[in-house]
Amino acid sequence: MVDAAQVIPEIVAALAEFVAAAEPYFIGFDPPLDLRAIAAAVRLLPAILDIGECLGLRRSGAVASFLWDEPHMLRPEWDARIRNMTYYRASLKYPALIPLAPRRPVNAVVCLHCGGSGRCSGPPARLAIRVVCYGGGLGWLPDKDASPWRWSARPTASRVPGRPPTERPRMPQNEPRGSRTTITRP
Ligand SMILES: [Zn+2]
Repeated sequence: MVDAAQVIPEIVAALAEFVAAAEPYFIGFDPPLDLRAIAAAVRLLPAILDIGECLGLRRSGAVASFLWDEPHMLRPEWDARIRNMTYYRASLKYPALIPLAPRRPVNAVVCLHCGGSGRCSGPPARLAIRVVCYGGGLGWLPDKDASPWRWSARPTASRVPGRPPTERPRMPQNEPRGSRTTITRP
C-alpha cells in the first residue's frame, strides 16, 4: 500500500482513468495482452510501448518497465535518459501529466541523433510517426548520456585486475534501448 503522501496525484488520476476506460486496449500477441488489466494489476501507467517492453510511471513517480513476456514483473528504471523519455512520452499521451514533463537542465546536451529537433529523419513518413529518437523526442540528453556508447565502458562490479570479468558486458542487455531509435507500438 502506497501512502497518500508518497504518490503523485496526476499519475494516480491518469492511471485510474486509463484502467477504467471502456474501450479495450489489447496488445497484439497470441493470445493478446489486455494492457488495461495489466496496468491495474501492476499499478503502472503505460507510457512507451516498444517492441520488447512497456515503460511507464508508478504512482510514486518512479519509472519502471515490464517485458511483454513477463507483464507482471516490474523492473525499476534508473537511467536518466530513459526516465526523461518515459515522462515526456507520458506527457504526450496523458495531457494531465504535461506539468511533469522533464525540463531541460542547464548541463543537457543536444541529441546528435536528431540535431535537437526531436524528430527522426530517415525513415519513411508512415514509419517515422512510430519511430522515437534516442532522446525520446525531447531533442536533448542528460549530460552523462551524451554518447550512448559510454555504456560499453561502464566498469563491471566484479572486475578484478588480472582476471576476466565474471559479469556479462552490459551492451547486449541494453541493446534494444541503447539503439538509435525506439519503434513504438500504435
Ligand atoms: Zn534525438
